[in-house]
Amino acid sequence: MDTVDAIVVGSGAAGVNAAWPLVEAGLRVRMLDFGNKDRHYESLIAHKSWSELRRSDPHQHRYFVGDQLEGIPFGDVRVGAQLTPPRLFISEDCERFLPVDSSTFAVTESLAEGGLASGWGAGVFPFDDADLADAPINRQDLAPHYEAVAERIGVSGDQGDLQPFFGECSSMMPPLEIDSAGEQVFKRYQKRRDALRAAGFHLGKTRLAACSELHRGRGPHPHLDMDFWADAKRAVYRPRWTLEELKAFENFEYQDRRLVEHFNEVPGGVEVCVRNISNGQQERQRSRSLVMAAGALGSTRIVLRSLGMHDRPVPVLCNPYTYVPVLNTGMWGKPCKDRRHSLAQLTALSFSPGDRSRYTQAQLYSYRSLLLFKLIKESPLSRVDSMALLRLMQPLLGIIGIHHGDRPTPDKTLRLRAGGNGQDRLEIEYVQSKAEQAAQLADEKRVLACFRKLGCWPIKKISPGHGAAIHYAGSLPMGAESGEPGCDQDCRLNGTRSVYLADGCVFPSIPAKGLTFTIMANADRVGTGLARSLQSGALRAGVRE
Ligand SMILES: Cc1cc2nc3c(=O)[nH]c(=O)nc-3n(C[C@H](O)[C@H](O)[C@H](O)COP(=O)(O)OP(=O)(O)OC[C@H]3O[C@@H](n4cnc5c(N)ncnc54)[C@H](O)[C@@H]3O)c2cc1C
Repeated sequence: MDTVDAIVVGSGAAGVNAAWPLVEAGLRVRMLDFGNKDRHYESLIAHKSWSELRRSDPHQHRYFVGDQLEGIPFGDVRVGAQLTPPRLFISEDCERFLPVDSSTFAVTESLAEGGLASGWGAGVFPFDDADLADAPINRQDLAPHYEAVAERIGVSGDQGDLQPFFGECSSMMPPLEIDSAGEQVFKRYQKRRDALRAAGFHLGKTRLAACSELHRGRGPHPHLDMDFWADAKRAVYRPRWTLEELKAFENFEYQDRRLVEHFNEVPGGVEVCVRNISNGQQERQRSRSLVMAAGALGSTRIVLRSLGMHDRPVPVLCNPYTYVPVLNTGMWGKPCKDRRHSLAQLTALSFSPGDRSRYTQAQLYSYRSLLLFKLIKESPLSRVDSMALLRLMQPLLGIIGIHHGDRPTPDKTLRLRAGGNGQDRLEIEYVQSKAEQAAQLADEKRVLACFRKLGCWPIKKISPGHGAAIHYAGSLPMGAESGEPGCDQDCRLNGTRSVYLADGCVFPSIPAKGLTFTIMANADRVGTGLARSLQSGALRAGVRE
């Protein structure tokens, strides 16, 4: 059996960034991944702007609505509205292979090459010491890894009012251009800046994992407003760009069509039990070490199964999320630039006056390329009237997405249950306390009052339900007592010698900031630490037997 130095499970944001330092250190690394891809839509979308395609492409319905009309949501438009037909491969096959039971928590997992970040919003929000207060690591521990990851993935942003909360980033490129609606809001903020900051409201251009300049052969971002549909110039970061770079190393091997089921520690390392999806065969693969990066829920499923911990409750976290369609009155009668990107234009942090450790994070998007028909269901008017009105109002339409922090409670749990047909299922219960709900309402009221001062008038508030932020965390936390499901500060799984965790499952709590950039930095930290112990001989060198 061929024993490698490290097996990494998953090719998402966590997996590729954990693999990188191991591969760079010259170790033999094998990545096991289910690896679904879009084989259908990518080639249909020309390198043109959204408005040009809308005007002139006779085949546009194929990708905007989908060949199977899969772009038309027949239920409520609630979770993952950005997952357009060309992005739907991201969650393909999950119902079948990753079953979840919950009436209180919506789950979106991924079995794609590149995972969920194949369609993420690319918002980059480094944590500070206060954000990491519940973890046994601090900003200093992550600092070199934030820098390494920022250089690897390409980050754009500026040194504005959010800088004190996000910190320095030496490789940061200038920000992407904000659109006309964003400009109006930003101008108003600058006029009222002192008063708003005194009220705990800080606004800036969104720091994005997108290249505003040529960087590692990617970008510059062409501002075509097609970011929810295509990956023009590979400017917005997708983990598959790093995977392509990894594949160029001789000591890296990528095996897709593999479903990792469980692992056992064996003398000299780990044996990983894998289902080969192409032929249905079971495989056993050997490695000196294992890095789990199957997504927070995916890794937890495999760990609980491997440790025989069925029915054992573990915590589950996800940023509570509310989105608010707004009318941006600053745009009345103003011309609207066609050139724009589709991602979040502006980001606000809004601190609670009595408690500086509590804050919300809000992102302002303009609403155009996601298409107006999706909003009709949210309108009280008839279909025809709604469409006419929405067309008229479109330059004024925006969406504010508000994220809150999350902490574990006994009412937010995940369990692995044995299934009758031999396939186990995750069961998730997620109930917020009255105090949490009340605090969130108060925080939303405060942040929306500030946006009103900037001309953004809420039309209604939409609570898409728990889990909707798709920011999962907390199920195998760092610093858990030995004997408890969790890991130490190096993210080594409790009770094991050579199994490491690299995704969101390791964070004991999450701030309101999106966590993916920190997942990537921590994955880089885990890979770097593991490379060191593999090289120092703490574990035997990888050998071909
Ligand atoms: C629409 C959308 C917008 C988002 N926007 C933002 C944002 O702006 N900022 C932010 O911080 N976060 C954002 N997120 C969240 C972000 O995408 C995730 O936090 C991040 O991608 C998680 O990465 P991961 O590698 O931990 O897991 P995943 O992306 O879930 O990757 C899991 C990987 O493991 C593989 N895998 C899973 N199970 C198995 C198995 N059993 N065997 C083999 N392989 C397996 C999968 O194929 C995949 O490659 C967004 C998410 C979505 C969906």
